[in-house]
Amino acid sequence: MTASTPPAGPGRSASPAGRGPHPGPVARGADPRGLLGRLDALRETDLPVRGGRTMAYVYDSGLDGVEELAAAAQARFAGVNGLDMTAFPSVVTLENAVVGRAARLLGGGPETAGTFTSGGTESCLLAVLTAREHARRTRGVTSPELVLPTTVHAAFHKAAALFGLRTVSVPVDPVTYRARPEDLAAAVTPDTALVVVSAPSYAHGVIDPVAEVAAEAERRGVLCHVDACIGGWYLGHLRHADGVPHPPAFDLSVPGVTSLSVDLHKYGYTAKGASVLLFRDAELRRHGWFAHASWPGYPVVNATLQGTKSAGPLAAAWAVLEHIGTDGYTELSRRVHEATASLAAGIGAIDGLRVLARPEASLIAVAAEDPALLDVFVVADEIRADGWYLQPQPAFGGSPANLHLTVTAAVAGEETVHSLLSDLGRAVARARALGPAAVDPALVEAAAGLDPDALGPEEVELALTLAGIGADGALPERMAPVLAVLQALPPRLTERLLPEVIGRLYHPEPAVPPAREAEGPSGEGG
Ligand SMILES: *Cc1c(COP(=O)(O)O)cnc(C)c1O
Repeated sequence: MTASTPPAGPGRSASPAGRGPHPGPVARGADPRGLLGRLDALRETDLPVRGGRTMAYVYDSGLDGVEELAAAAQARFAGVNGLDMTAFPSVVTLENAVVGRAARLLGGGPETAGTFTSGGTESCLLAVLTAREHARRTRGVTSPELVLPTTVHAAFHKAAALFGLRTVSVPVDPVTYRARPEDLAAAVTPDTALVVVSAPSYAHGVIDPVAEVAAEAERRGVLCHVDACIGGWYLGHLRHADGVPHPPAFDLSVPGVTSLSVDLHKYGYTAKGASVLLFRDAELRRHGWFAHASWPGYPVVNATLQGTKSAGPLAAAWAVLEHIGTDGYTELSRRVHEATASLAAGIGAIDGLRVLARPEASLIAVAAEDPALLDVFVVADEIRADGWYLQPQPAFGGSPANLHLTVTAAVAGEETVHSLLSDLGRAVARARALGPAAVDPALVEAAAGLDPDALGPEEVELALTLAGIGADGALPERMAPVLAVLQALPPRLTERLLPEVIGRLYHPEPAVPPAREAEGPSGEGG
């Protein structure tokens, strides 16, 4: 494209903005191919989303064509607005099909109702909102509480913060990292809106005693949510596989379980933005819905937090679920189970490492046998050079610093498992030679005396400089020293500092001078 080609896009109209003191970066529209090339170039610094070496955040089935199918389905429905199901009845058909599949897999019956959401966090938020409203309307609870094992996903704390519930955090068993039913039951009061258990927990990959907790909750007339966001699809299908141990009952078939969340964008291997929240019945589900007719615009009924809602992720989920099918998912679960078992055994055999809890699903938490000799965050930095991303989990409560591995089907296969284990063995040797990342004890002591709520800009600045974070927000290449500092701080101080760190990354690009625009890869503009 040359400068004389009539530009497409926003630049077509003589833009008044172009005459102002701050011309926007796109005075004239750019060529689509050049733009897509620039997007591709941006991806080069990201972690890979396929191949199984990124062991958190991304899920790869390892099957050919799944990602392409999801993208094509998504593109067809990207512009369809799930806000109005009367205008776009296709979304009702697709949602009923997807929710129906989830309900059949996860112990639903004829009464089961559900909602397709944008992800696990939204499913958890809505489970809490629904429980709060249910408690208020049916029991007159005005100061609602949420009873949570300490291992529950952060999304429930977010829900409590957003929707005004008090959290009651209950420590888990220090050896198994599973919730203890009697302790959860003892935390229930007349103000309890919801008790939550995980199947499995994200951090340790263990399944809470769902049946016991749900029974206690039911006896006390309280709702019980199972967070099967990460493991529901995997465990549900693993039950159909031969020759593997089957998980304990964790789903809606368990008496007392009143809602359950399961993410499709995890072990459903579909495009991001896909989760299902199931309820025991539509009467419970309705408490979380929002309806509004008291304004001059269109009457509103929202089952989720979004207003305008692309049907793209729903269409992608439907297509991928239909394509892989129950047999396909069962086979993928079997592969993931085998890969997880071989990895856990292999990691346990590496001198200096230990697997924290016996993995009951597809997640592994790896800690150091002796943290004074080996820093697992240094191991993570080291193995990143080999193209593996293992996710650091800082010490919390009785859980020591460890690395999280989400095992997806792309990891299955002897070659990948073997290469991860040998790379890990070498990374451990290098990390041991390097020694643990050191934290200045004086810094920790000073930090312990800080009141997170009273920190002004200068104290924040100082704290971040000490932690090795530059004023421009640039994160250091090696994360172990930063994590060592963060881990040594009280969690509330970390919660005060983290948004400051991340906030520095996000600042609007200053207006781009026209000269820089001419440097676009396709040479347009200028
Ligand atoms: C991933 C996850 C969530 C949150 O889901 P997002 O899709 O990341 O919003 C909630 N609970 C558990 C156990 C999870 O693993």
